Amino acid sequence: MQDNLIFGADASSYRASEPLPSWQRQLSQAIRDPAELCRRLQLPDTWQVGASAGHALFETCVPEAFLRRIKPNQPDDPLLRQVLPLGDETLQTPGYVNDPLDEVQQRPARGVIHKYAGRVLLIASPNCAINCRYCFRRHFPYADNSPSRAQWQEAFDYLQADPSIREVILSGGDPLAANDRHLAWLVTQLEQIPHLKRLRIHSRLPIVIPDRVDQALLDWLEASRLQTVMVLHANHANEIDQAVRAACQRLQGAGVTLLNQSVLLRGVNDSTEALAALSEQLFDAGVLPYYLHVLDPVQGAAHFNVPDAEARQLITTLRDELPGFLMPRLVREIPGEASKTPLV
Ligand SMILES: *Cc1c(COP(=O)(O)O)cnc(C)c1O
Ligand code: SF4
Repeated sequence: MQDNLIFGADASSYRASEPLPSWQRQLSQAIRDPAELCRRLQLPDTWQVGASAGHALFETCVPEAFLRRIKPNQPDDPLLRQVLPLGDETLQTPGYVNDPLDEVQQRPARGVIHKYAGRVLLIASPNCAINCRYCFRRHFPYADNSPSRAQWQEAFDYLQADPSIREVILSGGDPLAANDRHLAWLVTQLEQIPHLKRLRIHSRLPIVIPDRVDQALLDWLEASRLQTVMVLHANHANEIDQAVRAACQRLQGAGVTLLNQSVLLRGVNDSTEALAALSEQLFDAGVLPYYLHVLDPVQGAAHFNVPDAEARQLITTLRDELPGFLMPRLVREIPGEASKTPLV
């Protein structure tokens, strides 16, 4: 469904003679074969059947830089669990659907989702640098929602016509899977809309491939007149290593405010210890916790679910252990609501 090797309209803006940036080379070399993933992590052969069944529904994608943080021969490693396809993904669970957030219905223009007051989300790239097994977009019709440059004009016209919009959120997929030439162009267009004040970027890439935060990215971030916020996505303390900390430092140097959103996931971060360690590691990297999302009920991800009562209890216990500014807000996205809905 998602073909991470193809960068849509963006690829054409790289000439054949130009070397690919390091991050793009790393992404093109990501592990996409579930059997290879099992081999590389020395998993018993018994994992392979499930891995290929899950892969058939949503392809495997794990870049080397992320793989390095996974401990071999440990099937319940919290990072492995996020990326290893499982037979459980084939189970049909009542209440779990293909488009849990009903986003297909919310498009005022191609690539535009406008659900909340004052802020609009743009699908800036249909691709991701990693395929997270719990992803609520695992069944998303991306091909229909990745506009070409000419089609972007429709989105700009929509933003231009509504002065109540102050913030544009670049999302995806992962917006930073697009190349910097494309992103710099996009941001330059947005800057011409006078009522826009803020640019927000929702990206897992600085966590997955920290080399994504290269000079080409920093150049357009630094040059922008818009206040820039980046909401990263890490779910476990082990995702934050020295390379991630250095990438965060570079982003801060470019004036970017750093936040993090996580998903509460069974077997990954469903303990107060794991959540406290994540908040501590984030803050060490200069990142503040923002949201802790409960799982969206997407078909194939039910095995990641943590029931609401348990989620509330975790947050209540966590509050006794952490300073207030290290507490993520536990929220659910309910289609039709004017904001994310807090659970506690
Ligand atoms: C989550 C989301 C936002 C951002 O919401 P905040 O509460 O401002 O972080 C904006 N638009 C859409 C469509 C969203 O799903
Ligand atoms: S990076 Fe985000 S959008 Fe991409 S697969 Fe992971 S959770 Fe989904």
